[in-house]
Amino acid sequence: MNVQSLTVVFTAQEIRERVAALATQIDDLYGDAPLTVICVLKSACMFFADIVRNLRTSNVTVDFVRLSSYSMADTPRESILFSHDVEESLEGKHVLIIEDIIDTGQSMEFLMGHLATRNPLSLRLAVLIDKKERRQTAVKADFVGFVLQEGFIVGYGLDYAEQFRHLPDIYAVEPVEPNNRGTLCEKLTV
Ligand code: 5GP
Ligand code: MG
Repeated sequence: MNVQSLTVVFTAQEIRERVAALATQIDDLYGDAPLTVICVLKSACMFFADIVRNLRTSNVTVDFVRLSSYSMADTPRESILFSHDVEESLEGKHVLIIEDIIDTGQSMEFLMGHLATRNPLSLRLAVLIDKKERRQTAVKADFVGFVLQEGFIVGYGLDYAEQFRHLPDIYAVEPVEPNNRGTLCEKLTV
């Protein structure tokens, strides 16, 4: 896919408002209980940074994991590369994963299974975008910023071939193939 055009789907202002609302929900749930917030690198970096600095509790620690998915020519589905694990103990702690998108759900099914073996007191998931069309697993997010039916988006940490992560708004990418104009993202706010 070559990038043809970018169409704004969520503006920086819409994202700011949604992130503030999610941070309030997170504060309401955890109160002043100690909370470890885990950023899934690279794509969740901006969402993570905005969520943690909107939290009102002072009882927050942060940690990082790195996941990436890639396609192999001879396998039907994407494989997950897990290249950095958390550095702090999660034993007996409330743990909240911050992820950019649930698409098929494979990445979060893997990560939640992995982190559950560290015996956290609780393990929850916050995602900026819940993308419905390609879901293959039963993974459910506890906190959702926006719902998308379909489409490929970039910006606010999300990339296409490592490009566009720095953009403050989120855009739908339109592919160039003459017979495949792609579909504009259909957005729903939860
Ligand atoms: P999964 O299919 O395992 O749920 O999602 C794997 C990863 O694919 C997500 O964490 C996200 O980084 C990436 N991804 C899924 N949909 C999109 C999209 O529309 N745009 C971008 N840039 N990345 C996406
Ligand atoms: Mg991701």
